[in-house]
Amino acid sequence: MPLEQPFPTVDERVFDLNKMFTGREAQDVIEHALNAPEIGRTALVSSFGADSVVLLHMVAQVNQAAPILFIDTEMLFRETLEYQITVADTLGLKNVQILKPEREDVFLRDNSNRLHATKSTSCCALRKAEPLVRALENYDGWITGRKRFQGGKRTQIEFFEADGDSRIKVNPLAFWAAEDMQTYIARHRLPKHPLVAKGFPSLGCAPCTSRVIEGEPQRAGRWRGQQKTECGIHFENGRVARAGSQEAL
Ligand code: SF4
Repeated sequence: MPLEQPFPTVDERVFDLNKMFTGREAQDVIEHALNAPEIGRTALVSSFGADSVVLLHMVAQVNQAAPILFIDTEMLFRETLEYQITVADTLGLKNVQILKPEREDVFLRDNSNRLHATKSTSCCALRKAEPLVRALENYDGWITGRKRFQGGKRTQIEFFEADGDSRIKVNPLAFWAAEDMQTYIARHRLPKHPLVAKGFPSLGCAPCTSRVIEGEPQRAGRWRGQQKTECGIHFENGRVARAGSQEAL
């Protein structure tokens, strides 16, 4: 839902925000994203994956009741579901909203739960993108954990990005290195996802995530053997647009 006047367009606000926050800390970006009237209602979208606890902790420092959107594709590792509960309890998060695909949609489009094996982009649309799009209708901004060091299209991201013409995407960790994440987790003694120590430095759904061996990129285990490297969706003018390698989370 577009913010009403007197706010300028999303592109103009994004330009001003990136100028204002050049060289600033991730925590400053989060505080502003959660409180600034020119951004509006903002939620953190979290997978409760390998590094997610960093942003979750930062958000909890600002507001434990901030909305956290967690997409349960119903294909996640059991360990991720357990970790979500552990982290929410540890950080005192009071507003974790669990998003799931619509029952009828799953019945009609993936009744055998095998769509991931034949049409992974369609599966991601059904189980990740569409639930997220429905939830984001209630927000003017969303915070993601994307980082430049992750490569691909992420190498260019800024703190603030236009997400269509009505919403702002916020990437507080855009300029962090992998080591920064580990340092932060250790310094604050945050709980670690149990599968990281078992060779999963990046976690998605169980059927589409494999172990990574030493020397491989962090996301090498995601959709291994496929061209696909991202969830396969992005948003244009507030609507889902599907494309093989576009980025989402
Ligand atoms: Fe489906 Fe795999 Fe995408 Fe999960 S990551 S939604 S199982 S294709």
